[in-house]
Amino acid sequence: MSFIPYSCQNISDADIASVVDTLRSDFLTQGPAIAAFECDFATRHQVAHAVAVANATAGLHIACLALGIGPGDRVWTSPNSFLASANCARYCGADVDFVDIDPATRNMSLAGLRAKLEQAAAVDRLPQLLIPVDFAGLPCDLREMRELADRYGFQILADASHATGASYLGRPVGSQYADATVFSFHAVKIVTTAEGGMVTTQNATLAARLRSLRSHGMTREPSAMEGTPDGPWYYEQTELGFNYRLTDLQAALGSAQLKRLDEMHAQRRQLAERYDSLLTGLPVRCPARVPERVSAWHLYAIEIDMERTRVTRLQVFNALRDAGIGVNVHYIPIHTQPYYARLGFKRGDFPAAEHYYANAISLPLFPALTEAQQQRVVDVLRNTLV
Ligand SMILES: *Cc1c(COP(=O)(O)O)cnc(C)c1O
Repeated sequence: MSFIPYSCQNISDADIASVVDTLRSDFLTQGPAIAAFECDFATRHQVAHAVAVANATAGLHIACLALGIGPGDRVWTSPNSFLASANCARYCGADVDFVDIDPATRNMSLAGLRAKLEQAAAVDRLPQLLIPVDFAGLPCDLREMRELADRYGFQILADASHATGASYLGRPVGSQYADATVFSFHAVKIVTTAEGGMVTTQNATLAARLRSLRSHGMTREPSAMEGTPDGPWYYEQTELGFNYRLTDLQAALGSAQLKRLDEMHAQRRQLAERYDSLLTGLPVRCPARVPERVSAWHLYAIEIDMERTRVTRLQVFNALRDAGIGVNVHYIPIHTQPYYARLGFKRGDFPAAEHYYANAISLPLFPALTEAQQQRVVDVLRNTLV
């Protein structure tokens, strides 16, 4: 029986043609495909500015810098995320802390955030930046987080690496409430450029800063210079930036993929709904549905319900892997990693994230997953669990 991965890129002939056309064009990088992709992405996400970057981690890093994060600042994120959501703050010398998750949505808990902000305000240790994460593609409570940000004076950098194509209160994720939003185009994500990312913002000044930081802090724009050009070759480095650019090859793939976003999203949604009904009655907890939020369905993560079965997560995981089903686990809580333990975090600090992690399994979910393959996954689960 063939192996079913937990995630798989979806590359069409049109995607391939788009990359090949770019290979034959004048620019492999720093050419017109980048601006075209940014424009396509901004239009699709109803946002004024989209800045393409080498990967979402790079996007998170320069977004932190552009939002003014530096040594000694405090940045809060979710422990149920990929390492990059926290590491980006460490790159800037900031101190990271976490807000535990809501067990229902698996996103940062709004009640937990409110309580932690009250405590922090009392001891004058409020955060400068909040990095909420749309886990599995489900949008988090951004409207309420914005109210809290305005009340307590912090900024919001949304990590929407899972949420390309998701919508929140009727609008695409990345278009409102956050100061900046980061998307990932890694091969396992919703749309891919192999490696790649995008930062969206409604703020023109912030977008200009991101463009500078992604390319060495250089400008060729006379209005942005401190000195006077002594010739047409003149450029200036006005700050310390990086080479965090996306290539034209990747941008061409991104634009082609974006054309199929709605179609691929519909397939993911349908498969998720099918999992919901196929898993009914099994001792597992399925992803939550929240009104006025449409998940991008990057992941379909279940939790083994330990109150209703004696089979362990490890046994279920191994049974699925033995049957050629590429399940995975998202995420080991960030604060339990040795690097973060050395910074003072310990097990028990964020019990909801730890409890979720202890029982979680991400089932295969990608647009080309067939109903027969999905049935195979559910059959193995059923046979193992009951
Ligand atoms: C994938 C991912 C990232 C990092 O994305 P890259 O493009 O691989 O750098 C960051 N945050 C979350 C939540 C992710 O899933």
